[in-house]
Amino acid sequence: MIYLDYSATTPVNYDVLESYIRSTRDFSGNPNSIHSLGVKSKALVHSAIKQISDTFNVLESEITFTSGATMSNNLALIGTSLANMRMGNHIIVSKLEHPSIYEICKYLESIGFEISYVDNKEDGLIDFEDLKKKMRPDTILVSICAVNSETGIRQPLKMIRQVIKKENNQTFFHSDMTQALGKVPVNFHDVDLASVSAHKIYGPKGIGLLYKNSRVPLTPLLYGSGHTNTLNPGTPPVPLIVAFAKAIRLATTDLDKRENFIKRLNDKVVEDLKKYDGVLINHSNICIPHILNISLMDMKAETFLHALEEHEVYVSTNTACASGEISTSVMAMYNDLKRASSTLRISFSHLTTTDEINKFLLYFKMVYEKLSFMKKNEE
Ligand code: PMP
Repeated sequence: MIYLDYSATTPVNYDVLESYIRSTRDFSGNPNSIHSLGVKSKALVHSAIKQISDTFNVLESEITFTSGATMSNNLALIGTSLANMRMGNHIIVSKLEHPSIYEICKYLESIGFEISYVDNKEDGLIDFEDLKKKMRPDTILVSICAVNSETGIRQPLKMIRQVIKKENNQTFFHSDMTQALGKVPVNFHDVDLASVSAHKIYGPKGIGLLYKNSRVPLTPLLYGSGHTNTLNPGTPPVPLIVAFAKAIRLATTDLDKRENFIKRLNDKVVEDLKKYDGVLINHSNICIPHILNISLMDMKAETFLHALEEHEVYVSTNTACASGEISTSVMAMYNDLKRASSTLRISFSHLTTTDEINKFLLYFKMVYEKLSFMKKNEE
């Protein structure tokens, strides 16, 4: 098998899985119980939270565990909007967000919020002038993805924050950092709220977190008991939390070394794919190397994906969460419907080997030639 879909999800790291198993076995008490088994579990959860908050240099109380980045995004956008509606009803998002953000925006519009979409340059960089123009006294929230999931475009969050705060110091800044964590350095202090997910960083599925600076008022979306996780009440999933803490620790080390290696793999693939007339590389100098997006100008990406799958090669058509639709991100970059209609995302990991890349390029050639031949015969 050649797995090149690491941005959709990652295989769980063995040590992470072991800590999940060990904490499931040895910490069966409910952290909300006051007896010794509960206290033991609660202490374990606290040490995991402390480890995470130390890694990001934030307060323990600023971390809320969620079920994943989709829930973190919901909590961030809806919770902040509801809590600040007396200040205004205007929200700005980019055209390079994950589909979950657009679905949340649709809901917010349906309950009376107004959404503006900030433009970006052709390389994907947020257009700062347009952002300035769109900022208003009633803008309560700006949400901009740290790394776009389809193309790997990375935004300079610190600079964006400066623009936002200069225009309106009351506006909160959220970033979906799901595709950034574990790939490039992330700094929660660049933003007021941040979403991340464990299964993108070799952690278990079913847990993510929302960082929320203590200054940000946020209306909870869920109500219940338990004091560990006030914005997501109920019994804390001890093994998931412990495993997530471990995954974060492992994913935030050796970033440079991993990135350099992945860049070499990416360069090799780009160099090879350039030779196909019908392939366009959707790439700019602000894309991280872990994600490579291409357009197949004469073929359906879905057909290509399934043909690769016959050789046990796994990639994505745009994001796994929006398969079958046009790529909003490629559209936002090039404003070219044909180019955005048939895109493939190839995503690499430090686990990817040069041998896998060589085989991938071979299978790509076979599939490309076969589908081109079939297409010519149909015409
Ligand atoms: N945001 C981004 C940028 C993503 O790539 C994803 C996963 N495709 C999500 C949010 C949703 O994450 P989760 O699966 O943890 O809900």
